[in-house]
Amino acid sequence: MINRTISEIAEMIGAASSFAEETANLRVQGVSKDTRNDVAGSLYIPLIGASFDGHAFAQDAFHKGAVASLWQKDHPNPPQDVPLIYVDDTLLAMQQLATAYRKQLKVRIIGITGSNGKTTTKDLVASVLSTTYKVHKTQGNYNNHFGLPLTILELDEDTDFAVVEMGMSGRGEIELLSQIAQPDIAIITMIGESHLLQLGSRLEIARAKMEILKGLSPDGVFIYNGDEPLIEQVKAEIMLSGNIRSIRFGQSKYNDYYTDYIRLGEEGTFFTVNGMPDPLYYIPLLGQHNATNALSAIAVAKVLGVSEEQIVDGLSSLQMTSMRIEKLTAASGLTILNDAYNASPASMRAALDLFDGLTGYKHKYVVLGDMLELGEEQDEFHREIGARLHPEHIQGVYAFGSLAKAYVEETGKRFPAGRVHWFEDKSELIGHLADKLTDQDVVLVKGSRGMKLEQVVHQLLEK
Ligand code: ATP
Ligand code: MG
Repeated sequence: MINRTISEIAEMIGAASSFAEETANLRVQGVSKDTRNDVAGSLYIPLIGASFDGHAFAQDAFHKGAVASLWQKDHPNPPQDVPLIYVDDTLLAMQQLATAYRKQLKVRIIGITGSNGKTTTKDLVASVLSTTYKVHKTQGNYNNHFGLPLTILELDEDTDFAVVEMGMSGRGEIELLSQIAQPDIAIITMIGESHLLQLGSRLEIARAKMEILKGLSPDGVFIYNGDEPLIEQVKAEIMLSGNIRSIRFGQSKYNDYYTDYIRLGEEGTFFTVNGMPDPLYYIPLLGQHNATNALSAIAVAKVLGVSEEQIVDGLSSLQMTSMRIEKLTAASGLTILNDAYNASPASMRAALDLFDGLTGYKHKYVVLGDMLELGEEQDEFHREIGARLHPEHIQGVYAFGSLAKAYVEETGKRFPAGRVHWFEDKSELIGHLADKLTDQDVVLVKGSRGMKLEQVVHQLLEK
């Protein structure tokens, strides 16, 4: 984590505060923004949110051992006799500090954006690089204008690589994150339909993701999904530095890296690359889309000279951030595929493809919630997903939420009566479904974050 004196910090953020020599030379280790976490020895950063103001807790931070604090100038009643660095805006100052710190480090940074698969790809890349280097990665889903600078400030001087996730909901956000992180390698996993509501078209979504190139090192590497023509189109619109190397991955054979032989195992997926029988890669994740995600980790590893053996090891020993198609077994023996973390049309398609290919169960059921934030075409997207559900693969469809009615309207056209259900109330849904389930069945649970379908997962686990 960052380890600098108070005067160095003030200089890094261009703050005019002056300190007595003794104070100026005090060292802070790390930053903190929440006094409920460990703040001892740190620089406290009072951030201001819609429902909170960190300035109210600055005194508490000092009690708990913070060495210094930022203080936004327009705030009254600063705590007395403690080192405060006065700034115009604490969030901006944190971002400036991260930008300056990044420039001082020799770390190489891999930045990852895309509509789906960022966290998965981040974990895969970090797992492969950790076989050979000292690696730090974004914790959980800390991928926005707060999380990314905090991730950078967590880096140690001797970290070799940082793998950072960059998320967005509108234009300009990825550019900001990319300018802070200044990646050496930029990855775009794929372009989906998430945030169509805010951005209006898939082309605009592609342009927003391509902002990751704004901070990319002029002799960096751009690794992207070559199956997506919109990325190619936007790439042609912008002037890329001549020294930037492009590498494409995907399912089509025209890519530099493509997946070939793909087989689903009990707990993971086997695949080969570029038509070569060897090596046979394994990832402890289910689905073809995850094999595609693994290709960008393989591409990064090859660029950085990680050996084949270590790539195979790194992929197979992946530690995942949870709730992304997690395979769980209930007390009753029932199998649950928990994908309740989020849903968009692309990730729904990926999850349903995987589910269709799953064998060894007596009956397969799906619990599907609304996909949110899709804009004007939301109804069509839900219909399209409904139309993908087939009675030969799926015994019962349980839909939850107002948009989810469209799944049922489509599905109802093909399924025999009594196998498609829509619920307004989650506990009714659980009660109805639980009566049908046996230990030989499997249930896929998926919906947007706002639908909180993990409640269904937790209750089914106990049944
Ligand atoms: P978020 O924007 O919520 O941070 P993310 O981009 O980090 O999401 P993950 O958490 O890796 O994405 O995966 C989220 C969902 O997307 C999961 O349901 C997963 O099944 C699906 N998914 C992952 N990779 C792909 C892909 N390459 N194509 C389509 N769907 C994918
Ligand atoms: Mg994520």
